[in-house]
Amino acid sequence: MSKKQIGAEVVSLAAYRAAKEVVAANIRSWLRHGTSESRVAMETTVRAIMENHHVRNMVFGSFWVHYLPGMGLVIAAKNHKKARGCPRCGSVDNRYLHTDAQAPTAHAVTWGCVECGEIYGTWEDIDDDAS
Ligand SMILES: [Zn+2]
Repeated sequence: MSKKQIGAEVVSLAAYRAAKEVVAANIRSWLRHGTSESRVAMETTVRAIMENHHVRNMVFGSFWVHYLPGMGLVIAAKNHKKARGCPRCGSVDNRYLHTDAQAPTAHAVTWGCVECGEIYGTWEDIDDDAS
């Protein structure tokens, strides 16, 4: 690999890191404000960035974002706990983001904290009466 190619890779990696920061900031801004307009703005921005970088997945510290063309964005926590509330600030004021049915007796649910914008997962028992 030539020096020129290595240089281009460093530049694109830096651009990708900056783009990821914009994605995370847009998601956290929507979580805190929560209007349908801010959801549309977030989805439009995140999709444009992912298309621009030719990626379908972005992995962050506590969550990942998956873009399904024609179906929308999936924002899912990497880890799920039994405990309720935000692991960063303790707030129970949250927005529902995603359910992943991966166990017979509990669902892995992703939440976004309205107070601090953290994204986290909980295990929610499946209520037999509701099914
Ligand atoms: Zn929080």
